[in-house]
Amino acid sequence: MSGTDFDLTAALAADGPQRPLFCGFSAELSGAEAVVYGAPCDSTASYKPGSRWASVAMRHASESLETWSPRLDKDLTDFHIADAGELELPLGNMPLVMDKIRKTTADILRAGAIPIMIGGEHSLTYGAVRAAYERYPDLEVIHLDAHTDLRPDYLGEKYSHASVMRRVWELLGDGRIHQYGIRSGTREEFVWAREHLNFHPFELSALPATLENLRGRPLYFSLDLDVLDPGCFPGTGTPEPGGVGFADLVAAIYSLVGQNVVACDLMELAPTLDPSGISTVTACKLLRELLLTIL
Ligand code: MN
Ligand code: MN
Repeated sequence: MSGTDFDLTAALAADGPQRPLFCGFSAELSGAEAVVYGAPCDSTASYKPGSRWASVAMRHASESLETWSPRLDKDLTDFHIADAGELELPLGNMPLVMDKIRKTTADILRAGAIPIMIGGEHSLTYGAVRAAYERYPDLEVIHLDAHTDLRPDYLGEKYSHASVMRRVWELLGDGRIHQYGIRSGTREEFVWAREHLNFHPFELSALPATLENLRGRPLYFSLDLDVLDPGCFPGTGTPEPGGVGFADLVAAIYSLVGQNVVACDLMELAPTLDPSGISTVTACKLLRELLLTIL
């Protein structure tokens, strides 16, 4: 099945014991170098929901993608990458959702593998970062996004996707969140970001210099896919014009080579908002390139 003929109903019917795996991945968790899991939750989406279907759609669209990367000359099948399937999340109860993601991420880290979460809304990153921080107290967070995600809360919801990096900052403190590509937020958020974060709005070009300074430090790489321009990635719930292109983003991902990336996520794909399926295939290709860069 290609990304262009993804049918959500058929996809869900095909799940269960015979669920498809991400192309090139294994169902065997034991001994895996990386474990990918779906986190299907979009309870706090502030505009359009739909990211809960991202991982299901990506598994199907991944069949249209080669496992070999011509850019990297590496193949997914050269590695033991496990697909742990979908987490069952209690939608609407964000504290419980966070606990479950934190525990799942901690279990994967304890097993010696790199956890890769496929969102879902970006708020879920907090649970995964928390687990990584508990294992690596000197953790640094690399955050690519169109949005600052720094509101203290959103309409009273502190686990909103508009607040996720504020929650992460409460864990890590000043100077350990590195933001790139940001082009939307309140004036207060931009002022706050310049004071408390390593803040690089609009572009990704400053990332390699940051990574050079952080060499050896444990990194959490959080990719909100809406950092891409909605012209090439319309399948997301809060599209923000003026974003980066695929080539810029994939170059940023390649700059992670040789770094100590301990956990990652790809968030905010909402596949049903892009009937062409291009956004879903794009997310799959970015997942492949990210894995082949960090493994
Ligand atoms: Mn975000
Ligand atoms: Mn965003």
